[in-house]
Amino acid sequence: MANAIHHVTAISGSGPRNIDFYTRVLGLRLVKRTVDFDEPTIGHLYYGDGAGRPGSLLTFFPIAHAAPGRLGVGAVQETVWCVPAASLGYWTHRFLEKGVAHETPTKRFGESILAFKDPDGTPLALAGVPGLEGVPGWEGGGVEPGHAIRGLHSVSLLLEEAGPTAAILTDVFGFAETAREGTTIRHAIAGERLGAIVDLRAVGGFLKPRTGRGSVHHLAFRARDEAEQAALVRRLREGHGIETSEQKDRRYFRSVYFEEPGHVLFEIATDAPGFSVDEPADALGAALQVPPFLEERRAELESRHADLA
Ligand code: ZN
Repeated sequence: MANAIHHVTAISGSGPRNIDFYTRVLGLRLVKRTVDFDEPTIGHLYYGDGAGRPGSLLTFFPIAHAAPGRLGVGAVQETVWCVPAASLGYWTHRFLEKGVAHETPTKRFGESILAFKDPDGTPLALAGVPGLEGVPGWEGGGVEPGHAIRGLHSVSLLLEEAGPTAAILTDVFGFAETAREGTTIRHAIAGERLGAIVDLRAVGGFLKPRTGRGSVHHLAFRARDEAEQAALVRRLREGHGIETSEQKDRRYFRSVYFEEPGHVLFEIATDAPGFSVDEPADALGAALQVPPFLEERRAELESRHADLA
């Protein structure tokens, strides 16, 4: 049993600008427009493949006037998407054409990497991965057929020291150390195509991060169902002395949260029920979804989040 990445959640500035970048530039599907269930005055946008499968998801809390975040130890440094190896040239050209800030492609762990930033400065990259052609991507996003983003490739965590976080990845989530390059230690799950890599970068003495626009809020790992989630919660408590939050109903999945030893906020999210629980699979993201427990505030929330409609 192993538990790959379910989703990454970050903070953006303007919601409309975020939607424009992720749907029109990256060609992802906006699979859900909703609100932050803990703070409904803030919106919540989910992007992924056509079905919003776990492992393809990046989500944002858009806060128009958020101050810029600052990277530091105990944070997700970069979120990497995967595309077929032959597609990186197409993407480099697309970024030039659309004015996306990006770096010259480079090699990491033998794969070609094209690093870039979204309009809020969120550090992102595309990894060109061989053999991905058969993995479906969202074909409705205006990206030339065959070149669509398939899902998450990896995230990298910036840490004071790698060991304590590595222990959680290997002992609880079933990752294994597979390679080292410079200060980066790669952990991966064999046989998974999406969200199966976490790179740990140990950089002692760095500043603490400041959450804000362009920074990642938390990193979620998959549990197949609630029974597996409960087993992982037990493993964290009994094997590592870590207590998780109570389970929260996020409507599209059930979640528990904990701070891992390197201070990154981790979540364990169930695969089910998924994004077609409140709108048809062919109309995901069509309209703002207000969860049942906020129904009496629907009018207020629809008006407040009119810019996300
Ligand atoms: Zn989450």
